[in-house]
Amino acid sequence: MIYDCIIIGGGPAGLLASLKASEKGGTVAVIERNNILGKKLRITGKGRCNITNDCDFDTLMANIPGNPKFLFSAFKNFSNLDIIDFFNDIGLETVTERGGRVFPKSQKAGDVAGALVSQVKKRNNISLYMNTYVKDILIEDGCVKGVAVNDKEGNSFEILSQNVICATGGLSYPLTGSTGDGYNFAKKAGHTIIKPRASLAALISNDKFIKSLMGLSLRNISISLSINGKSVYDDFGELVFTDSGVSGPVILSASAYYKKDSTAVLSIDLKPALSEDKLYQRLQRDLEEFDRKMYCNSLEKLLPKKLIPVFVARSGIPSNKQVNQLSREERMKIVSLLKNFTVNLSDFVDVKNAIVTAGGVNIKEINPKTMQSKLIKGLYFAGEVLDADGYTGGFNLTIAFSTGFAAGSAVSENK
Ligand SMILES: Cc1cc2nc3c(=O)[nH]c(=O)nc-3n(C[C@H](O)[C@H](O)[C@H](O)COP(=O)(O)OP(=O)(O)OC[C@H]3O[C@@H](n4cnc5c(N)ncnc54)[C@H](O)[C@@H]3O)c2cc1C
Repeated sequence: MIYDCIIIGGGPAGLLASLKASEKGGTVAVIERNNILGKKLRITGKGRCNITNDCDFDTLMANIPGNPKFLFSAFKNFSNLDIIDFFNDIGLETVTERGGRVFPKSQKAGDVAGALVSQVKKRNNISLYMNTYVKDILIEDGCVKGVAVNDKEGNSFEILSQNVICATGGLSYPLTGSTGDGYNFAKKAGHTIIKPRASLAALISNDKFIKSLMGLSLRNISISLSINGKSVYDDFGELVFTDSGVSGPVILSASAYYKKDSTAVLSIDLKPALSEDKLYQRLQRDLEEFDRKMYCNSLEKLLPKKLIPVFVARSGIPSNKQVNQLSREERMKIVSLLKNFTVNLSDFVDVKNAIVTAGGVNIKEINPKTMQSKLIKGLYFAGEVLDADGYTGGFNLTIAFSTGFAAGSAVSENK
């Protein structure tokens, strides 16, 4: 069992790498611990898979908060637009949606994985080791020799190669197989690991009212995230309250701008379509209709039921005050709270529950053109295991595909 290249991990980075590494006839072994390839890929984009983004190169770079310069060469050689062409060429039709987000036309993430896997299976020179767990990378005198594995039956054996591409993913969603093994392999090989942390994740709030809002989803709201008093991110869309904080599409995007150990405040505009003046007029109309009711029973046209008690308490206006007794000042207070409902943020959720792991193998120790380790000959890294990450919009899969392409091409060129 001696191969020209071993790839640890059958995710998007590993699969793309396998296609490139085998392109010129080299023998390749893909070793995957699961019984299925691309387990995480199959659940991406809420089951629709946002493959990449149909944007220009500058926009692509601007959407990579984690080490964009390192990715420059990989993106130049296999860009977001090349990824679209690649999938179209292998028979997967794609559609572009709002914000340049590219999805399979079928809207099924399984079809993206299926298209990749069918290409891999067509190559006679790619061997698939499924249900096989890599426990160690073998290194001798600064050169890679192969890997030590355990198969499903518990047999331990070695698979040999002078090239090993480590595409084991990060620490997020460990049930998909990414449990951070690559960090241990890299550390053992002498690499430094930038502390893995959550990115694109729900955010925690210690505000007392949070628990009572659990499960409440707010659609068509806008948010503004401020860090240490400075507004860093605005968005419009859907937010969901969880048992410990906030989540939902706008929060996942905003979280890429969140800084731990800062004073972070989320301001929610519950009525973004209305200016304060218009909202005041609207409120006046609603309150006229309910003018004999108590304040706490007058907001049902403006707010979801679950939010009303929290809103009333936070407004500081006595809940049993009769509506026709509300002063102009109190009415302005209501408007102001509708436009600026704040949530104090205190942390990310655990990295395991994040969409993406930021941090990882220190890119200073990796050749950006080939993804080869500068410390160990024949050792390569690709995908989320590297300290590189992107915003939502298909940018993390773009990183996986582009770095997988770079590593696979480099191995194939060396052959
Ligand atoms: C719910 C969710 C939705 C997402 N949606 C999107 C999206 O729509 N668009 C987007 O761009 N990004 C999305 N992402 C992020 C994206 O899925 C990842 O960035 C991407 O999958 C990383 O690819 P990878 O190949 O580096 O790692 P992974 O996809 O994690 O693959 C790593 C593989 O290595 C295997 N492995 C690990 N250790 C070992 C070992 N020791 N031995 C053998 N095999 C091993 C694992 O089983 C796994 O199959 C999403 C992530 C999640 C969790």
